Amino acid sequence: MTMLEVHDVTYQYGAKRALDDVSFALDAGRFCALLGPNGAGKSTLFSLMTRLLVTRHGTITVAGHDIASDPRGALASIGVVFQQQTLDLDMTVLQNLRYFAALQGLSGKAAQKNIDAALDRLDMRERAREKARALNGGHRRRMEIARALIHDPKVLLLDEPTVGLDTASRQAITAHVHDLADTGLLVFWATHLVDEIRETDEVVVLHQGKVRAQGTAASIAGTG
Ligand code: ADP
Ligand code: ADP
Repeated sequence: MTMLEVHDVTYQYGAKRALDDVSFALDAGRFCALLGPNGAGKSTLFSLMTRLLVTRHGTITVAGHDIASDPRGALASIGVVFQQQTLDLDMTVLQNLRYFAALQGLSGKAAQKNIDAALDRLDMRERAREKARALNGGHRRRMEIARALIHDPKVLLLDEPTVGLDTASRQAITAHVHDLADTGLLVFWATHLVDEIRETDEVVVLHQGKVRAQGTAASIAGTG
């Protein structure tokens, strides 16, 4: 079942064409990578998928919701973890998650139920009362992934989620993300590191704003 469809998307910053006729489709329950060097257009694509940027050229459909005509439906179906860390380090994990739940219109018991479920999915429930500042980089990232799952999205976008993390933290995040895909989520992980596509089910290769290839990690090796 197609969960994310990008069709003929073009985006320009002034005269600079960052995305050029980008098309691909990804299914539910898959761990997918968006592989491309710096400047390939990965962040631009994620910004369009989360409506931080808007284009009139092409369409993006998330869980059947067209992002231009039904932005609420599309955004309700997407969870995102941005490259820069966005936790409030002076708040506890729980406070951070409650704050985000409130932004999603969730409060009280409903919020707590979703927060607990999201923390469980990342194996982070016992850290909930700690200050975000007290967590190491890997655990902060897992908190951010948990936060992105509070509204129970269908698609999880991760923009270079392991930058600056040690091997153990990277492996833990990869393992958790695998499990998330196994529960039916479409995980879409942007990276410039060929090493990080090894465990994915499917890869979209982006270079200079164009899709150069799409396939399994094994079939992609050598095209990058
Ligand atoms: P990636 O995330 O793969 O590194 P980006 O989407 O950030 O790629 O960038 C794609 C292209 O668009 C690059 O050539 C970049 O220099 C350019 N670009 C990105 N943001 C801007 C901007 N705000 N203004 C002008 N050009 C930009
Ligand atoms: P903690 O600090 O919570 O003990 P670490 O980050 O040190 O966790 O260790 C790895 C984490 O990744 C553990 O929480 C473990 O449950 C989780 N983990 C490791 N492998 C898998 C896997 N295959 N599936 C799900 N979770 C995993």
